[in-house]
Amino acid sequence: MYLILFGAPGAGKGTQAKIISQKYGFEHISTGDILRESVKKGTPLGKKAHEIMSSGQLVPDDIMIGIIKEKLSEPQLRDGFILDGFPRTVSQAEALDRLFGELQFGVGAILVFQVDEEELVNRLARRRACRECNNIFSNDVINNLTECPKCGAKYSFYQRPDDDESVIRRRLKIFIDTTLPVVNYYKDLKDLHRINGLRPIEEVTEQIFGIVEELKSRG
Ligand SMILES: [Zn+2]
Repeated sequence: MYLILFGAPGAGKGTQAKIISQKYGFEHISTGDILRESVKKGTPLGKKAHEIMSSGQLVPDDIMIGIIKEKLSEPQLRDGFILDGFPRTVSQAEALDRLFGELQFGVGAILVFQVDEEELVNRLARRRACRECNNIFSNDVINNLTECPKCGAKYSFYQRPDDDESVIRRRLKIFIDTTLPVVNYYKDLKDLHRINGLRPIEEVTEQIFGIVEELKSRG
């Protein structure tokens, strides 16, 4: 079984991926990680990818697909895996489909973590981080406090540059622009589920477990 995850910034994709892989023992495959891994191991494809990246170019699809194929051929992945960070384009999605056919992977689903833009901007704009312990708090909680409730540091709160409104809006726009064509491609081909990432974590988890259980019952 496989799950392919797409996630808007702030939609909790990473958190849920961790929970799913703990519960079901699915390996969480981030394409960034396996790319680095094959470069480090110095596999033929890893060497090629390294050369290309060193010259400042993006790793082309055929090499990336080759690296993913090496990874997905590992026997423990037959039980289930979560693919994260790929595909990013429709042609990558088509190549991945061919690969899944070749490797005879069974059932799977696409999970698209979405957020309401205004709600996300509101939520992140209220976040403050502690410079000392890096914990994140809502401004509603630490308002008027001079000391960090976790580590006791004084006047240590700040707003992370990532949480700035214009940064959030730009990242969301990039996500929507790049992901939408791929999501549209999958819509008619695969079991695609939209997940509202701003709901409480447990509710989101429950929805996803429901999807996985349903897939399992289909074999
Ligand atoms: Zn602190």
